[in-house]
Amino acid sequence: MNAKKDLGQNFLVDNVVIEKITNEINATKNDLIIEIGPGYGALTSILKKTEANIIAYEIDTDLKIYLSKYEDNLTKIIYQDFLKSNIKEDIKNIKYDKLFIIGNLPYYITTPIIEKITKEELIFEKLVIMVQKEVADRFVAINKTKDYGYITLYLKYYYDIKRLMNVSKNSFKPVPKVESTVLLFLQRKDKPNVDKEKYFSFLKECFKQKRKTLRNNVSSKDFEIIKDLLKTSGLNENIRAEEINEDLFIKIVNNI
Ligand code: SAH
Repeated sequence: MNAKKDLGQNFLVDNVVIEKITNEINATKNDLIIEIGPGYGALTSILKKTEANIIAYEIDTDLKIYLSKYEDNLTKIIYQDFLKSNIKEDIKNIKYDKLFIIGNLPYYITTPIIEKITKEELIFEKLVIMVQKEVADRFVAINKTKDYGYITLYLKYYYDIKRLMNVSKNSFKPVPKVESTVLLFLQRKDKPNVDKEKYFSFLKECFKQKRKTLRNNVSSKDFEIIKDLLKTSGLNENIRAEEINEDLFIKIVNNI
């Protein structure tokens, strides 16, 4: 196996892990699976057993000689940067019931990939993605912990995220520097009732300087209103953004 560092190539070689991840994709022949970064096909080969349609995006054309054996009338590999792909166009001729998205990808594009999937507004059954453990900790953090921040709340607006398993470095070749975690994203059906642009820009403001109090991160005009809301929630007015849960943030944004 050749691995290109600049493409974040760390291939899964642990069959137990491969089995567990692909088991999460409970697709049937009426479904569609989008795989991002198939590599040598460690996940693809198992996913094919579902008999679902598979569309895989792989940026590295040198892998063609290894991946072409998986291609048939159900499985198509698109050699392109996933971030530049036109997913809706690529899947427009495929009829499917449920959509599953899966990827074990370079960690430096984790957030752009999730953002792309989010902005495409695809409806999917499950998104299963391998991320760096520290990143997973931030994605699923709860308030009053150091990992809780803008990205936690941004993702929480759209998804219920569950940690499926931690994966040791030794499950990959070449062995990466960091530990990994497999996450499951489910689309929320009960999205918070708030103007999302206003909400996200307010959150950015609040978490601008993490160590500062909320008072110091927002405008004094806003803080006058926030102060009262904190009081009614029984909270100190010198609170920091990381202590505030989603419900209260929503309440605040709906009042300023
Ligand atoms: N899923 C395979 C490969 C993991 S390595 C496995 O688990 O073994 C990550 C893969 O993502 C590599 O094949 C790499 O070439 C590919 N990749 C990296 N950046 C990409 C991008 N922007 N779009 C699509 N694939 C990408």
